[in-house]
Amino acid sequence: MKFSPIPLFRVFGIQINLDYSWFIVFLLITFTLAEYFYPYFYPNYSAIIYWLFGAISAILLFASVLLHELSHSLVALKFGIPVKEINLFIFGGVAMIEEEAHSPKEEFLIAIAGPLMSFSLGIFFLILVLLYPVDDIFNGLINYLMYVNFIIGFFNLIPAFPLDGGRILRSILWRKKDLLTATKITSTLGKYFGYFLIFIGILYIIQGNFVNGGWSILLGMFITQAAKVSYEESKLSYVLSKYKVEQFMTTLKPLFYNSPVNELIDFYQPFYHINYFPVIGKDGRFYIVDINEIKNKEGTLEKYLEDIKCFVSPYDSLFKALKIMNKCNMDELPVIYKNTFLGIIKRSQIENLLENMLLGEKI
Ligand SMILES: [Zn+2]
Repeated sequence: MKFSPIPLFRVFGIQINLDYSWFIVFLLITFTLAEYFYPYFYPNYSAIIYWLFGAISAILLFASVLLHELSHSLVALKFGIPVKEINLFIFGGVAMIEEEAHSPKEEFLIAIAGPLMSFSLGIFFLILVLLYPVDDIFNGLINYLMYVNFIIGFFNLIPAFPLDGGRILRSILWRKKDLLTATKITSTLGKYFGYFLIFIGILYIIQGNFVNGGWSILLGMFITQAAKVSYEESKLSYVLSKYKVEQFMTTLKPLFYNSPVNELIDFYQPFYHINYFPVIGKDGRFYIVDINEIKNKEGTLEKYLEDIKCFVSPYDSLFKALKIMNKCNMDELPVIYKNTFLGIIKRSQIENLLENMLLGEKI
């Protein structure tokens, strides 16, 4: 079972969400700081203070991560690339940037914005440390935030896709080669970096350090997997972006709301083999009927009209169509242009194309 993340708030039109896995890392960081870091460097405080500062540090760490992700997102939005949400989870945060950058320069600027924010925060806390040279637990907090922001900045600059450094390297390679080759090289580096972290994790575990070891192995597995998935997605995007929906859609005319149900079932469905059929409502708007819902029903279609929530334009790429299908959990999408219903694009058509492409040329 998959839990959907907790919605926190919206900023610049971006929804900020908290994944349940975040609580694990929040507790782990709070525990480590409250039991080891603060008592070791700043003795003579009560346990409550240690735990309070532990929790505040963990929350401010994630506020820093959020600012890092927001920086990527704002640069992407500036280039007209939609960003719907930022998810905070066990390994930090991830901005859901909906499309690939349009050019190497855009990719470079989007990627570098995050580490630049982390370094700026690091410098900000460094200045606070210098302005507040008192050796107390508050000084410990700003010291901690300074270190973690520098660490976030440097870690993300490692040239292993999909880390920011990998994206920066990809943008540089993209200038010389094509995007697909650049993604292949950088995601291979990403995969090996993931293996390297797993290896380090095993070394930790052999030494008896189970927390660091487990952490390193999980992070390594996550990066390896993310590198593979990103490459697969780039490959799909590369192939499917070349084609438009209009080249592959099935054109069909909508029925009217007062058409009989059995006419659709007996006559149209066997011909078109689709699950959703377009219908013009009494109000002149377009609706769909779910054919599985109306089987064995009688009367007219009017009672079974459903709003169209997901659709594509004939000029959208097949990649966009596939992404919308996945998001809406549908195998067919209505094709609508300027309030006119043109037809249906089916997942099977896109899959057939991909199969033919894979047979024809190796990608
Ligand atoms: Zn980043």
